[in-house]
This record gives sequence, C-alpha cells and structure tokens, in this order.
Amino acid sequence: MNSLTIHRKGILFVISAPSGAGKTTLISSLRHKQDFVYSVSCTTRAPRPGEVHGEDYFFLTQDEFQQHVTDGDFLEYAEVHGRFYGTLKSTVLTHLMNGVDVLLDIDTIGAASIRMCADPIIQDALADVFIMPPGLDELARRLRRRGTESEEQISVRLKNAFGEMEKWRAYRYTIISGSMEEDIEKFRAVMRAERYMSCRLQLDFA
Ligand code: 5GP
Repeated sequence: MNSLTIHRKGILFVISAPSGAGKTTLISSLRHKQDFVYSVSCTTRAPRPGEVHGEDYFFLTQDEFQQHVTDGDFLEYAEVHGRFYGTLKSTVLTHLMNGVDVLLDIDTIGAASIRMCADPIIQDALADVFIMPPGLDELARRLRRRGTESEEQISVRLKNAFGEMEKWRAYRYTIISGSMEEDIEKFRAVMRAERYMSCRLQLDFA
C-alpha cells in the first residue's frame, strides 16, 4: 500500500432551537466559515432590517412559495410562527454528493420531516443538533434584548418555544446554550466527531 485516497459524502448538519435560544448568534458566527455551506431557506415572512435576499433567506410571496410546493422543490417545509419556511432540495443534494457539508437552520417540524425522508443520501448524511435554551426566563430576556419582534410576536414565540423544547430527545445531539463561545465550541466538537465517523469515509488503498 503506497497511497491512500479519501472520498466522502457531505454531512447534513441540521440545527433546531426555539427562537432566542442562541441559535441565530451561533449560526451567524459560523455561516461564513469555509468548511461547509449554509443552506439559504425560502420564506414568506418579511425581511428584517439588514436582511438580504439570497443571503439570509429567499423572501418569496405566498404564490411563489406555493409554486415550489406544487413542483416538489422542497426537501421539507413548515409553517412557523404563522409564516412558511422551506429548504430547497436540489441545492442540498448537489452539495452532499460533491462531498460538501451543509448546515440547515430549521424548526422541529422541518427536522422531523428530514428524519423521515426516504432518500438514502439524506438519511446517511443527517446529523441533527438541538440547541436547548438554559430556561424560559432567559429565553424571554434574549428575545427582548434582540429587539427584532414586537411584544405580541415575542409571546407567540415563547408559547411555541415550550412545545419545541419537548422535541429535544429526537435529535442525535443536544447542546445546552451557554455563552456564544461555549455554543460554538460545543457545535464544533459535534462537527469534528461526525467527520471522523468511519461510516462516513471511503478509503481507497493503492
Ligand atoms: P426566523 O423568522 O427567526 O428567521 O426563523 C423562525 C424559525 O424558522 C426558526 O426556528 C428557524 O429555524 C425556522 N426556519 C428557517 N428556515 C427554515 C426552513 O427552511 N424550514 C423550516 N422548517 N424551518 C425554518
């Protein structure tokens, strides 16, 4: 054996968390890293100040979103906080087949759909992570500090948070959110471990 060639398919890192659990900060500090691509979702919600079409989301009308549903373009989609959100299948599959890791930031319903997805490429690639807020009081504090939602929207999000928190056991990994640095370090540890899994590698000896 003189040389070793390593082949791998991409890993599909799925992160879910109730809003305010620290996921947005975690994702924004990770998303421009070079070792994976961040999957840009489609949504029917309005852009927040500073959000860019095609970078943060593809902001679609209800009709445009519905057309993608009809055409079967979504790997998964869900209604979250009264708006629709969906992940485009073709982009994710292309990256995984090319050995590129993909990061999805989706809600617990979307994550459950992906777990049930029959496509073997998706099944083999999946590594799902739940970010658990340290408590509901802290979650409310973080949402108010963020200042992007009205009090009414915050109460909808808090009501949904409890239901989402109950889904944590379905995920392969759970990270209890602490400081941003701690969350990044824990998520990076998950990434490293997944990348070393023997079943994810194909080694050719020549
Ligand atoms: P936000 O409006 O705060 O950006 O996101 C609200 C929620 O929608 C978050 O929990 C986020 O994870 C979820 N979300 C974002 N994109 C998608 C998607 O493509 N599919 C699903 N199912 N949820 C998404």
